[in-house]
Amino acid sequence: MQYGEKISLIARLIKESTKTIALTGAGISTESGIPDYRSPGTGLWEKQDPAKTASLTALRRDPAGFYSTNLKRWTEFNNAKPNIAHYALAHLEKNNLLLGIITQNIDSLHVRAGSTRVWEVHGHLRTCHCTECKERYPFEELTRLFIEGENPPLCPLCSGVLRPDVVLFEDKMSEAFYQASQAISGCQLLLVVGSSLTVYPVAGLPGVARQLVIINQTQTQWDEEATVVVNESAGKVMRDVLAELGEQI
Ligand SMILES: [Zn+2]
Repeated sequence: MQYGEKISLIARLIKESTKTIALTGAGISTESGIPDYRSPGTGLWEKQDPAKTASLTALRRDPAGFYSTNLKRWTEFNNAKPNIAHYALAHLEKNNLLLGIITQNIDSLHVRAGSTRVWEVHGHLRTCHCTECKERYPFEELTRLFIEGENPPLCPLCSGVLRPDVVLFEDKMSEAFYQASQAISGCQLLLVVGSSLTVYPVAGLPGVARQLVIINQTQTQWDEEATVVVNESAGKVMRDVLAELGEQI
């Protein structure tokens, strides 16, 4: 199938579906300047292993090292801006063409683009909480303390170590994941945008949807099950799909 035919088909599937959900991963945010962990040659994971650096064990054993290693990257996530693919999905939701977004990303870019129903299954970087008393703070509080020289950043109330509200390696799955698993039941169309579908349990979700569209730069293990696979950038494809639907952002 030619690229143009794929775009027409995706647009038609979206129009015909009564329950469409998007599943997004790092690939949707690369055009916002956030590198994809798994892209060969550019991936962050080749330089550092987050299973070690962004893990519960790392936070417990060496909280200062945990923040020295991770906070710069997280601050970059928080300073990034949504791109056309994020805005396109927000636009589809506003026009009742998309029920919601399940995202593996912690960069808040869907929320900032205006999407209202977002299941952030790996958490987000808008807030943090105290590992001792569980008090919750804006993420900026954690950053402020770090910049002022407090490493690790400690809870102003009880001096417990603060941690971001992201799912770390060795953490249990988030409440958002269970909500997403329920929301996806009865899904007619799942739009996978920028996910290589390698991280479980999220990578198992496509099996629930009746039809599958995969927009990702590289192949995935679900490609054979998909009605349409487009190996192009999320921004380009989503812009073209929206144009095909006659929608403008
Ligand atoms: Zn506390």
